[in-house]
Amino acid sequence: MIKKNNGLIATHEHITHRFFSSDVNEQRRILEKCRTLGENGEESISHIVAVPIDFISNDDIVECESEWQRIEPGFIRRAVGTHPVWVQELTENRFQHLRELAGAGTEWADLPWESARTEPAVAIGETGLDYYRSGENKNKQKYWFQKFVELSLEKKLPLILHVRDSVDNNAEVEKQGISTDSAWMDTLQILDSYRDENHLSTEPEKTPWGVLHCCTVHTSHA
Ligand SMILES: [Zn+2]
Repeated sequence: MIKKNNGLIATHEHITHRFFSSDVNEQRRILEKCRTLGENGEESISHIVAVPIDFISNDDIVECESEWQRIEPGFIRRAVGTHPVWVQELTENRFQHLRELAGAGTEWADLPWESARTEPAVAIGETGLDYYRSGENKNKQKYWFQKFVELSLEKKLPLILHVRDSVDNNAEVEKQGISTDSAWMDTLQILDSYRDENHLSTEPEKTPWGVLHCCTVHTSHA
C-alpha cells in the first residue's frame, strides 16, 4: 500500500476474484468496510486499484468500478491486463477490447458503462512472465507481455508486473546461477528493448515503468 495524506491507496486488489469473494453482496460489504475504515479513527483507504487476473475479470472490474462511481467516485480504479498464467485466453480481438477499456473520453463512446466512461484506467497489469505455474507457453507469455508493455507506453500508464521464475527458491537460484531461461531475465530483456539506446529517457512514452509485484530472488536482483 502507498500512504497518501488523505488515506492509503491499496495498489493491488483482486476484488472481483472468486477467492476474494464469489458473493457480490459479500464483496460489497468488504469494500464498504474498507471505504469507511477512517470513520473510527483507523487509517482510511482512499483508493483501491482493482487488478484483473483473467480476461473476463476486466469487464467485472469495470462493472464494479462503475457501481462504486455512484457511491464514492474514484474509490475503485481499474488496472487493465491479463495475468501471465491466463494469456491463453487472449486473442487480437480481445486485446483490442482491453485497449478500449484502458482508454478514456471519446474512446469510451460505444461502451455501456456510463458512469465510468470518463475515467481512464490507472495501470496496465497485472502482466509479466510466470515460468513457475505455466512454463510451457513461454513464447506466448512473452508475446502478450510485449503487447501490454506497448499498451502501457501508448496510454502512458504504469505497469503492474508479475514475474515468477521456474525455480521458486533462493537457494536453488543461487546454485544454478543466472539462468538464461529465467522469467526475470526475460522480463528485463523485454523491458530494456523498449528503452532508448542510452537508457537516459525519462519520458513516459519511451520508457516502461511501474511496480514489480513479485520478485522471487534476492534484493540484488531486484
Ligand atoms: Zn496479483
